[in-house]
Amino acid sequence: MREALDDLRRPAYIGERRCWPCTALNAGLLALACAVVARATPIGAAGVGLAGSAAIALRGYLVPYTPQIAPRLAARLPFDVPQPADRAKRPPSRPPGSLTDDDLAGEVVTERLLDAGVLVAEDEALVLDESVRERWRDEMGSLRALEPDALADAIRAIVDATTTVDRVETADGEWFVLSEAANAVASERWLSRPIAIAEVGAVGALDGLSREYRLAAAGPLRLFLERCPACEEPVEATTTAACCGGPGPNGPDDVLVCTACERRVFTYPG
Ligand SMILES: [Zn+2]
Repeated sequence: MREALDDLRRPAYIGERRCWPCTALNAGLLALACAVVARATPIGAAGVGLAGSAAIALRGYLVPYTPQIAPRLAARLPFDVPQPADRAKRPPSRPPGSLTDDDLAGEVVTERLLDAGVLVAEDEALVLDESVRERWRDEMGSLRALEPDALADAIRAIVDATTTVDRVETADGEWFVLSEAANAVASERWLSRPIAIAEVGAVGALDGLSREYRLAAAGPLRLFLERCPACEEPVEATTTAACCGGPGPNGPDDVLVCTACERRVFTYPG
């Protein structure tokens, strides 16, 4: 039964990537179908309702080709398609923040990482040195085993003494919120659990570099993640685009996302 459910499941359209306008549209059409069938057979209507709801839950939509037709339909509806209430609880920064927002220029960091042998040029691409990857993996393994408060302490140990680190639970999961005492809200950086593990682990693994470079490299290094720092499942390159157009005013992001927990581990520069 579980396997059958897994076959039906369409991860591209559910979870964090569920398109709420499409879900609302399909739920509305399903209610209409149930009402029509109920005139002939009430039991039949119950069956249609059950099967339809299951399809929407597992696949993200019921009507075939919804992802293709919904944008045009949604644009014609005379009312605003509802958005989920918990959107408001989302952290303010998107994409997720990083340990540091110091602007050491990307090329300077990359050059330093090449000099130190952390990155290696291979067939015109940059790859992560295998021994660095192994050290990083070990560091992430130890951090993964920590209780949330201990992970917050590990973050405190490497950021500036003036930075406060708070732990916040939202509908999306666990976040570590870093802020500078002098300018609390404007300076907030929200690190998800996978990103916190990845970056603190990277700072630990890059022990041959100065603290400044270790912190600056921790964020960009997430590009080289092959597995989720939090659950060890493979990550995949995808987009945050939903059926009805991408979220946010700047359009969708190209991202690396965990195939199991669906949390983002890297956002490609736009
Ligand atoms: Zn994961």
